[in-house]
This record gives sequence, C-alpha cells and structure tokens, in this order.
Amino acid sequence: MPETVLVTGGAGFIGSHTCVELLAHGHEVVVVDNHVNSSPHALDRIAKTAGRPLAGAFHVDVRDRKALAEVFARHPVDSVIHFAAHKAVGESVGHPVEYYDTNVGGTCTLLSVMHEHRVHRLVFSSSCSVYGDAQTVPLTEQSPVAPTNPYARTKLMCERILEDVCTHLAEMRVLALRYFNPVGAHPSGRLGEDPQGVPNNVMPYVAQVAVGRRQKLSVFGNDYPTPDGTGVRDYIHVMDVAEGHRVAVEHLDDRPGMQTFNLGTGTGTSVLQLVAAFGEASGRPIPHQIVDRRPGDVAELVADASAVAAAWDWTTTRDLAAMCRDAWRFQQLNPHGYSRRPGEAAAGETGELSCG
Ligand code: UDP
Repeated sequence: MPETVLVTGGAGFIGSHTCVELLAHGHEVVVVDNHVNSSPHALDRIAKTAGRPLAGAFHVDVRDRKALAEVFARHPVDSVIHFAAHKAVGESVGHPVEYYDTNVGGTCTLLSVMHEHRVHRLVFSSSCSVYGDAQTVPLTEQSPVAPTNPYARTKLMCERILEDVCTHLAEMRVLALRYFNPVGAHPSGRLGEDPQGVPNNVMPYVAQVAVGRRQKLSVFGNDYPTPDGTGVRDYIHVMDVAEGHRVAVEHLDDRPGMQTFNLGTGTGTSVLQLVAAFGEASGRPIPHQIVDRRPGDVAELVADASAVAAAWDWTTTRDLAAMCRDAWRFQQLNPHGYSRRPGEAAAGETGELSCG
C-alpha cells in the first residue's frame, strides 16, 4: 500500500536517493531538511530523477518543535525515515555538544512530535560505528557494541532511546538500520555525494582525485592486520541503501516494537582494492601515497548481512564496480557537486518550498 513518508534529512546523500526510491514505488514523500550539510538543489533533482514531485519540502530543523509540528499538521504522515543528523566522526570529537544536541536532541523532538500526531512508525538511520573496534568479523546484530567516538555514541544513544520508547508505547514500530559504508550514486548521474570542503570519506576523495580536483589520496596506514595492510570496509551502493529503506518502510508492521538490522553486503574491500576498482571504472590512475594511520580508525568492519535477508527476503545487488562506475559518472557530470558557479543557469530548478 502506498503511504506518505516523511523523510528528515531528505536532501542529503542517502536521504535524496531514498526519496527517489520511495517515489518510484508510488509512495508520497515529504522532506524536512535544514540544509546545514545538504544542497536545496538536491530536491529538484529528486523530482526530476523520479519523474514525480515531492508532496512537500520544508526548510526546517528537526530540533524546531513548532516548525516540525506544522509539517505534521499539513501532511497526513504514515511513517518517518529519520536521516537528519551530523555524521563526521572527526568533527564529533571537536564538537560533542553539537552532535548530542542535533543527533540525540533532534531525535527526541521528532519522537515527541510524532507521538502528538499519532505517528508511530519509524525507520532510524544508525551506523556500524556502534560496534567500535570489532574483535571478530563479520559483525552480526548481536556483536558487542562499543562506540569509540561521540558520533557513534549519539547513534547508540538514539537506539537505546528508541528501545525505551517501544517498551513504553505498544503502538511503536521501529526499524534501526546500521549502515556500513554507503558509496556510489544514482545511475543517472543526477544525484550523488556532494561533500562540502575536503571529503572525509575515501570514495568521494578518490573521485575528486580522478577528476583532477585533488592531487592524490592519502592512504591511512598499510600496517593493519588485513591482507594488504590497508583498512577493510563493507562498501554498499547508496541505491541498495535506498532500496533497503523503502523495503524497511514496507516491513514496519511485521511486528511491534523495535528491530535492529545491519545494512551491508557482507563483502570486505581494502583501500587499495577500492583505489584499483575506481582506476578501472574511470580509466584514470589514482595517485596515492601511504601515510600514518588515521586516529580512531579500525582495521576491518564487515557486515553479516544475513538477518535482513532472512527477515525481508531482500539482499543488496550492486557490486564494487557499479559503486565506482556510478560515483565516477556523478563526479564527471558534477565536478563541483550541486553548487553552481556564478551566472550559471538554474536549469529547470524551482527551489524548495519553505515553512516555519
Ligand atoms: N581512508 C583513507 N584515506 C582517506 C579517507 C579514508 O585511506 O582519505 C580509509 C580509512 O582509513 C578507512 C577507509 O578508507 O580504512 C574508509 O574510511 P571512510 O572515512 O570512508 O569511512 P569510515 O569507515 O571511516 O566511516
């Protein structure tokens, strides 16, 4: 049954792809985003890519209770996907209060406004970083959690809050998805990752090296206990992440209370393997040099993806070559991300609606 889904952080990297996926499957989509780390241009691109408009888009901060309540009052929301959050691990160490305020405070405000408007179905954006420095891989949902930085702790705290809310309110249905490393872009090249400033994450950095925006990649350490010594991660195509969210919304009523799932592929890729795959996809060498380990990094994070497969009869389908190919297409078509240079035409872009 098509439903109206409110997507917080819907203009962001994962949010925008999820909106397209929801629209493509007949759902109505309302976006709430404060555009602190996302471009309003993404909203027009969502509609263009899906061939259907959003039901609404609001320039609202999820901590702004009054403005958020107005959105719920204007739209009959059936379920919520909550992406809106700060997400940079390094930044969280320097700005812990901001991270707790936005990520934990924003989630509490959202939950309270949802309850006021009798909306009790939520898909929550969590992170594999809650597992911390994993002792054994692959990681199952039962693996011990031990977050090592404020960002990861905000995600774990939100999970705990959601568990408590589900214990208290029988009508709550929550699916928390712990993502591994989302990368890639929409195959159209219209939507992708548009980091502001120097990318923290390896894939957008590699893409910017390939397009000539940055000189070379620094590979953070080659002395990890991994096959080639560089860090191993479970990269997952953002279209698989988006599909996972759409399928999650459609499974919210499977059972009451809260369930937590990994969202990964189960396949580990080292930094050097990623560099080689991107070189292949782009047809360009990726200059790189080995430097010291990045503080706080762990050797290997790979998902056991079997729980979600068993619960929803769904698995990821896109491989590393597709992730690199699509990221490269987006990078080539949008060498400066979504930002327009002065004087550049706003081709068909209408700008976002706003409220509050
Ligand atoms: N990495 C790297 N150079 C960079 C950024 C990241 O070598 O400029 C490595 C990092 O050490 C890790 C992997 O790439 O092994 C993935 O890092 P990313 O920041 O993309 O994601 P994380 O797993 O840290 O969330």
